Amino acid sequence: MGTIGTSRVPPRPEGGVEVGTAVQPPPKPDPPARKLKIAMLAPPWVPTPPTGYGGIELVVSFLSEALVRRRHDVTLFAAPESRSSAILREVLPQGHPDEMERSLHEADHVGRVFDEVDRAAAEGRGFDLIHDHCGYTAVAMANRIDVPVVHTLHGPFTGDTAAFYSQHGGKAHLVAISDTQRAAAPAGTRIAGVVPNPIDLDEWPYQPDKGDYLLWVGRLNDAKGPHRAIAAARAAGTPLVLAGPVQPGEQEYFDREVAPHLDDDRVRYVGEVGGDRKRRLFAEARALLMPIRWDEPFGMVMVEALACGTPVIAFPRGAAPEIVRPGENGCLVEDEDEMAEAVATLGKIDPAACRSSVAERFGVDRVAAGYEEIYGAIVDRRDRPA
Ligand code: UDP
Repeated sequence: MGTIGTSRVPPRPEGGVEVGTAVQPPPKPDPPARKLKIAMLAPPWVPTPPTGYGGIELVVSFLSEALVRRRHDVTLFAAPESRSSAILREVLPQGHPDEMERSLHEADHVGRVFDEVDRAAAEGRGFDLIHDHCGYTAVAMANRIDVPVVHTLHGPFTGDTAAFYSQHGGKAHLVAISDTQRAAAPAGTRIAGVVPNPIDLDEWPYQPDKGDYLLWVGRLNDAKGPHRAIAAARAAGTPLVLAGPVQPGEQEYFDREVAPHLDDDRVRYVGEVGGDRKRRLFAEARALLMPIRWDEPFGMVMVEALACGTPVIAFPRGAAPEIVRPGENGCLVEDEDEMAEAVATLGKIDPAACRSSVAERFGVDRVAAGYEEIYGAIVDRRDRPA
């Protein structure tokens, strides 16, 4: 078995997608009640933090940085070219951006980390817990390792995944990322808590003066609904910018539903975006459109838009009603026509209220404290004599 390389690399100072534009270093929080030794298990596909699309990797990066600031001993197991203030262990020799969810790579990645965790325990430097963000392998095998596994539920409960968690969920400590997601858990599945995804406010520019375009950002597929955003923007008579990757298997959808509507003037597709360009797109948009037709368990792009003072007009699916407060930071609408009508009401929404609506709920330290609470309860239970 290959060894996993160790290093401690500071997060990208600039030029990465999200990390590195903080103007001042964040204040040092009080030390946690108990210092924990945490094995943070990121997915094997792309670096943590990501250089482009990569919602889970971004969450893992923020959380790891916050836990290090809070003086925990964090080892981040991640794909090559990751950056972190935690002890960084690049697990596989290469990333697999074009083979996401291929079980061979996930099993290889998780198997190597479990071996490493076992080895650490045998050498008397064992971890208190593994925090897994990595698909399914670690959950299915969580009872085969002598360290508690906390698993963040990054995806929705569908027929397949609900059956999987019914079968294996009890082996790990499951954490939901929204109340909606927790409510959708299959009967009998124990959820240890709800901790939303974090955002680092320092990295998102507050911009009260908006440009004259609507924005849609995400993976271009039917459930996320860029074609519905196009219909709504057309009906509102406002230009639309679309950004995001066309993932494997989605080219036909893109060619059929999106490409025929593109022009350089009213509906523009700018591809996958990152860095300052992405932040500017969010900050200067009149609103973010979120015409989803699936129960999206969180929806990072909504929080990113709000952090910039950009309101969100969303369909009331998934976690959208938990993030969008109608009249205060956006609107909840039922269809494309209502979405178009809502564009005319955007003037009533105060950009400052948009930003403050996310600052308190989704700030990085708030989220890290939420996880600390869950970690503490799990480690306490384990320490208790049987
Ligand atoms: N994203 C990006 N570049 C793009 C499109 C999306 O960096 O071109 C980022 C976006 O800013 C967000 C994440 O990818 O941080 C998508 O997360 P979200 O929860 O919105 O959607 P998911 O794809 O996880 O369902």
